[in-house]
Amino acid sequence: MENTVTITIASGKGGTGKTLVATSLALSLPEGVQFLDCDVEAPNSHIFLNPQWEMEVPTGLVVPRVDESVCTACGECNRVCEFKAIVVIVDKVLVFDELCHGCGACTYICPVDAITEIEKPIGVIRKGSARNGIHFLQGLLNIGEPMATPIIRRLKKEASPVAKITLRDAPPGTSCPVIESVEGSDYTILVTEPTPFGLNDLKLSVGVCRELNVPLGVIINRADVGDAGIHAYCREEGLPILMEIPLIREVAEGYANGVPLIDVLPQYRDRFQELFDKILKEVRHG
Ligand code: SF4
Ligand code: SF4
Repeated sequence: MENTVTITIASGKGGTGKTLVATSLALSLPEGVQFLDCDVEAPNSHIFLNPQWEMEVPTGLVVPRVDESVCTACGECNRVCEFKAIVVIVDKVLVFDELCHGCGACTYICPVDAITEIEKPIGVIRKGSARNGIHFLQGLLNIGEPMATPIIRRLKKEASPVAKITLRDAPPGTSCPVIESVEGSDYTILVTEPTPFGLNDLKLSVGVCRELNVPLGVIINRADVGDAGIHAYCREEGLPILMEIPLIREVAEGYANGVPLIDVLPQYRDRFQELFDKILKEVRHG
């Protein structure tokens, strides 16, 4: 939508400062930002933004159930399932819920309508309000539940499509949950650190964003500790370095106590606003 912008804050691995950046960016922008914590296995943005919870929506995944009295063991469901979640062994059909992605292909293909669908609970979506008028949404996956992507998809659906500014705090890594979080964004900020591990993970994250055709920029956290590899890589790849945050003991202590970066260093508010303006310019004009 023309007058809305969605920015995802991601990182190739945990502990790089992704949430530090996402929460302070949210607090530096005009009131009314919509904030989605997509790190559904271990959400922690709420620790920094401290929302008042207003609503909890149970979330499930639709999985198949087979009526053995109707099933002819034809094996069509087995053949169509990309995830090996439904298997026909001799004349028995076995469903592995933990592998099922809820795509519905088996139900669609079954020639005798032997498959019905049930909703298996996988977690909740929580909604609330935080300071600076932030509309806060969080996905929370049930413990032991292996499939994070469906709950992130649901979280995105629960978000308002008309919010002017939406920030998504992505899970760490480069797997399906990150792809789901980045997909549909106008821009992705990749937070990294200047170490060989940071560089390696950054390269993987850049690959994901480019695959999804989402423009991106880089923030280097703990920028004064490490080597120059990230700078060289960004230069070669033509990636903008949006901000560098040095290692500051007070910031690290604040983070450990759930205090946002801009509360420790209020001068960063202007820097985050400038960063946002820069991103908006790129999103609007390319
Ligand atoms: S497609 Fe339907 S009839 Fe065929 S094996 Fe699967 S459940 Fe049974
Ligand atoms: S819903 Fe999709 S993923 Fe699940 S068993 Fe059926 S075909 Fe496989």
